[in-house]
Amino acid sequence: MLSLLIELSGFAAALLFILGLKRMSSPATALRGIVLAGVGMLVAVLAAFGYLAQVTPLARPHLLTNLGLALLALALGTAWAWRSGRRVEVTAMPQMVALYNGMGGGAAAAVGAVALVSAHPQDNALHLAVTVLGALIGSVSLSGSVIAWAKLDGRLDSAWRFKGQSVFNGAVFLATLVLAALVVAGHGGGALAAAFFVGTLAFGVLMTLPIGGADMPVVISLYNAFTGLAVGLEGFALQNPALMIAGMVVGSAGTLLTVLMARAMNRSLANVLFSNFGDGAAAAQGEIAGRLTSVGASDAGVAMRYASSVIIVPGYGLAVAQAQGRLYELVKLLQAADVDVKFAIHPVAGRMPGHMNVLLAEAGVPYDLIFDMEDINDAFASTDVALVIGANDVVNPAARTDKASPIYGMPILNADQARQVYVIKRGQGKGYAGVENLLFYGDNCDMVYGDAQAVLTQMVQAVKDLAA
Ligand code: NDP
Repeated sequence: MLSLLIELSGFAAALLFILGLKRMSSPATALRGIVLAGVGMLVAVLAAFGYLAQVTPLARPHLLTNLGLALLALALGTAWAWRSGRRVEVTAMPQMVALYNGMGGGAAAAVGAVALVSAHPQDNALHLAVTVLGALIGSVSLSGSVIAWAKLDGRLDSAWRFKGQSVFNGAVFLATLVLAALVVAGHGGGALAAAFFVGTLAFGVLMTLPIGGADMPVVISLYNAFTGLAVGLEGFALQNPALMIAGMVVGSAGTLLTVLMARAMNRSLANVLFSNFGDGAAAAQGEIAGRLTSVGASDAGVAMRYASSVIIVPGYGLAVAQAQGRLYELVKLLQAADVDVKFAIHPVAGRMPGHMNVLLAEAGVPYDLIFDMEDINDAFASTDVALVIGANDVVNPAARTDKASPIYGMPILNADQARQVYVIKRGQGKGYAGVENLLFYGDNCDMVYGDAQAVLTQMVQAVKDLAA
């Protein structure tokens, strides 16, 4: 009876993961999707404990010790995740996602390590090969994600390079593959397996160190895909269907996201991983034509009140200022004055995929006001005002014209084509890619300097004063 219940729980968990993911594809149903997937995870964990209880006869007391350790690990992990999840700032979410990716990969690698250490000569070679492959991908994801976390958190330089790096990285990868083959041929083994793990962890670090700047979104989603794949492979090794399906669902979703992110940057994955192109610090920028001009927040607010159309481009700075609520207040005032207001979202705006959508949803902005880049880009040319709030790289025309720029080739939002552009930012700070923005020097562009929260508050007041 218990074993039937365990089997059914695995199936139910898998179903909940798939339904959850499906719901996450729209902002309107995403919250329910997350809850469903969470319930699926709870069911899978309970099923795993049910399985442990089933195979733990009193004659094998060490398994009871394992059960105790597993419960302790679960309690510690839950407490830590609960605390960090509640405390994390929205702007620090990408770092947290990178860490969680890494931990998923690390857990898969740990499962692989245990399987390798306890492997027997009579074990099936294919089974062992799958375990080793899962362990390889999982450990690369673990160490690579830690480096990605350190970069996103500003603890490591954007990109770290040396001459002949690609060849060196290739050699380390080949050596790791040879070790992997030896581990499979030798049916596990302590020292060889340890060397294999050192190689995979080192490769994760080496692979991530040279990537930086605007390429980071691709790297984060790639490690998300790696983690899913590793978990799925270890699920196969353990013959655990819930783990297999959960891993494959995450792996395929992560792969799709990686493809979308790479496409958003107009780069191939190989180009991101091996060209060392995404580092702003490496780019030399020539003299910029034009000059910076600025206007006061109230003047810009009044100008928008009398415009007939406004497109708002939110970026990372909006999240930093947490000004999404104030922004929506301004939008409602403009709408009440018959201004047509829309939002334009660049796929890599902010610091994580979907960052701006989450931010605007938090403020209650209706989804029908929010447009993806490809659906709205042609509209800028016939729009009165483009209001850029804390966005920089995603509206930088250098991506179209400057071949030396680290963001060259990345499709951008055509904010520069609007009749008038207002850019809210605090000062001369550069975007994530570390390059100057040609848009700010355009004849049709005025800077509105200040923290987005303060500037938007003044704009709201100015529009309200007009109505009074
Ligand atoms: P950027 O990082 O290019 O620019 C943000 C701008 O916001 C800065 O120029 C800054 O200027 C301004 N700013 C910061 N704080 C405030 C504030 N409180 N009030 C007003 N302005 C503020 O942002 P984008 O969204 O345009 O571009 C995203 C970049 O991040 C891309 O290069 C992308 O590749 C990268 N990235 C994206 C990830 C993703 O998954 N979406 C993940 C990792 C990286 P100032 O200091 O002068 O105020």
